[in-house]
Amino acid sequence: MTGGARTGLICVEVPDDSLFGPENLPYGVFAPPAGEPRVGVRLSDTVLDLAALLDDPIFLRADLNALLAAGPTRWREVRDQVRELAGTALPVDAQFPLSTVRMKLPVRIGDYVDFYASVDHATNLGRLFRPDSEPLLPNWRHLPVGYHGRAGTVVVSGTPVIRPNGQRRTGSDAPDFGPSQRLDIEAELGFVVGQGSTLGVPVTVDEFSEHVFGVGLVNDWSARDIQAWEYQPLGPFLGKSFTTSLAAWITPLDALANARVPLPTQTPKPLPYLRGSDDHGLDIDLTVRWNDEVVAHPPYGRMYWSPAQMLAHLTANGASVRPGDLYASGTISGPDPDQRGSFIELTWGGTEPVTVGTETRTFLADGDRVTITATAPGTAGRRIGLGEVGGTILPAR
Ligand code: CA
Repeated sequence: MTGGARTGLICVEVPDDSLFGPENLPYGVFAPPAGEPRVGVRLSDTVLDLAALLDDPIFLRADLNALLAAGPTRWREVRDQVRELAGTALPVDAQFPLSTVRMKLPVRIGDYVDFYASVDHATNLGRLFRPDSEPLLPNWRHLPVGYHGRAGTVVVSGTPVIRPNGQRRTGSDAPDFGPSQRLDIEAELGFVVGQGSTLGVPVTVDEFSEHVFGVGLVNDWSARDIQAWEYQPLGPFLGKSFTTSLAAWITPLDALANARVPLPTQTPKPLPYLRGSDDHGLDIDLTVRWNDEVVAHPPYGRMYWSPAQMLAHLTANGASVRPGDLYASGTISGPDPDQRGSFIELTWGGTEPVTVGTETRTFLADGDRVTITATAPGTAGRRIGLGEVGGTILPAR
């Protein structure tokens, strides 16, 4: 091809073992080699141009927000249309190899909330940060603990992460200011709000799937030295707000129907507003790679609080959500050492270094790269993939 018009119809080739087959079909925003960013769906290693295929202006924009706002009936119509198209020959000029496009942040994020929903992570952090007291604070089993994060610094996967400067505790009474020496990751799952809610009216647990469109992997980069000094009494601040990475691909909840699993037993029984008739967790297995070395396999299926409980809690006071809001699960960790979704846990506060390639590490060095991937049960014994979230550390400025 020599740059002339691309014409004709061809089928997208989907290998049998593809994690991005026609049962998956995540949404993203891509910039084609020539042209403005627009909404696409991933099928195998091809991006389908929805504006071209479905002739609807809600796809001819640089975020998913119009689709998110359209609500669950429209989401299902679009998904059904794309599933049907995925098995047919499609116009060549509506298909782009993934390697030729630039992926953009898929969602214009209004508000961002970060939870703390893994009992294993909360227990580990409690032991590390408060070694002389009970690891779980008294509220933890009664409510999904969370805080409001910084939406404006959520970036798409692949964006470099600049090491933050901040106040660090020193051996003397006074802190100093400089580059974080304990830069860490948090492997999380993010939930993208579709249909908004009304101010003053909580979203119930059973209304979850009317309001949440889908999921994407999140890496909540964390500066542990800054965090440890600043976090009491108001919680996380500059140790978290410098950068949060979100995957380029948002997997619709409908693609995860076979990943539903019962929640772990919750003791004590949550208050009525945190209970629903059909609440569930998601059996999603994550893999964390540190410079290509696999260092952890965090299991989302063990999360204590469900995604629906998190949404019910964050709206329980009448706070409303808007299309494009994002809330993340908090670090996903399991009970085993190789299931820890942060490096402060993996290296036990930096006291147990891990081998990364030919070097040892406790926290992140400049130039280090972290990539988080995940898979979940699909149909007929197959698995589907979530889009990866990755980033490389650049030196402090
Ligand atoms: Ca977090």
